[in-house]
Amino acid sequence: MKKHNFSAGPSILPQEVFEKAAQAVLDFNNSGLSILEISHRSKDFVAVMEEARALVLELMGLEGKGYQALFLSGGASLEFLRVPYNLMKMHGKAAYLDTGTWAAGAIKEARQFGDTNVIGSSKADNYSYIPKDYTVPADADYFHCTSNNTIFGTQMHSFPETTIPVVCDMSSDIFSRNLDFSKFDLIYAGAQKNMGPAGTTLIVVKESILGHTGRVIPSILDYKQHIDKESMYNTPSVFAVYTSYLTLQWLKNNGGIDAMEKRNNDKAALLYAEIDRNPLFSGTAKTKDRSRMNVTFLLKDEAHTEQFDKLWKAAGISGLPGHRSVGGYRASIYNAMPIESVQVLVDVMKELERSSQ
Ligand SMILES: *Cc1c(COP(=O)(O)O)cnc(C)c1O
Repeated sequence: MKKHNFSAGPSILPQEVFEKAAQAVLDFNNSGLSILEISHRSKDFVAVMEEARALVLELMGLEGKGYQALFLSGGASLEFLRVPYNLMKMHGKAAYLDTGTWAAGAIKEARQFGDTNVIGSSKADNYSYIPKDYTVPADADYFHCTSNNTIFGTQMHSFPETTIPVVCDMSSDIFSRNLDFSKFDLIYAGAQKNMGPAGTTLIVVKESILGHTGRVIPSILDYKQHIDKESMYNTPSVFAVYTSYLTLQWLKNNGGIDAMEKRNNDKAALLYAEIDRNPLFSGTAKTKDRSRMNVTFLLKDEAHTEQFDKLWKAAGISGLPGHRSVGGYRASIYNAMPIESVQVLVDVMKELERSSQ
């Protein structure tokens, strides 16, 4: 039986995408070859790469605005390093918002390149909220933030106005809600949270912010080289890019980002309403900063753990435990998750309440 997969990543994808990807493993585009054995320079795959890159800009409303989309390797973690390499000037300065484990990882890498200012942090409160009282310095080379904190279940619902380039790690909420993407200069996202399988990272970058650091950048780390080589500087993750392309097509055919946002809001509202109503549970993130992608919660009394775990497993739910660094529970309700699966979880929570009375 197919599980209700609440895993934070690698995570659920649309069933239709699984089926098409599986078919392509057997026979890609009736070529008599598997997607796993074709050349990345073959006509059919070059077309996939071109269309996927164009589709990203189309879905984000960034066509003709000086942006390029790339599908690179190394995960979002490599972008923690590639971003300062490409954007921080020699003896330069960057501003970072510290909203969780991933943000802290990005800060750690940036420190190797120059003056890395943490202008706001919620670390002292176990990252349960998004800092608001901070000023982005106008003389920094860029500002970096994390739109959705996968581990702590918080999400930025607004972004600061600034004149310096804005860089955002959108790994766990990319394509989940509409934003004015032209306010960002560089967006990156590991595919495995809301777009595809593990193995590729989407980068959307405004070309005009590149080439100003005075640094010598190794080719593989240089966004410009990847742009010049049309995201084929080295062998791309063919299967991960193809599967992400299938998800992007699914997104477009199902109403685009606006339609996803509406579905995601409905799913999140359903689950948070139960967390707030059910006397056995409590949410861990401050209400106004709650994530609509990763819903984190706790059992108020740990004595109910065994019974709750038994119930959700019996209901066919998978991937519910919180990140190993925080414990509790985390329901990741990415684009591909149907509201019916969220209802199954809500029903289990109600059942626990009944059975504990
Ligand atoms: C998962 C995650 C990462 C790390 O991604 P990798 O692809 O494993 O490097 C970085 N940032 C955020 C917000 C994430 O959710």
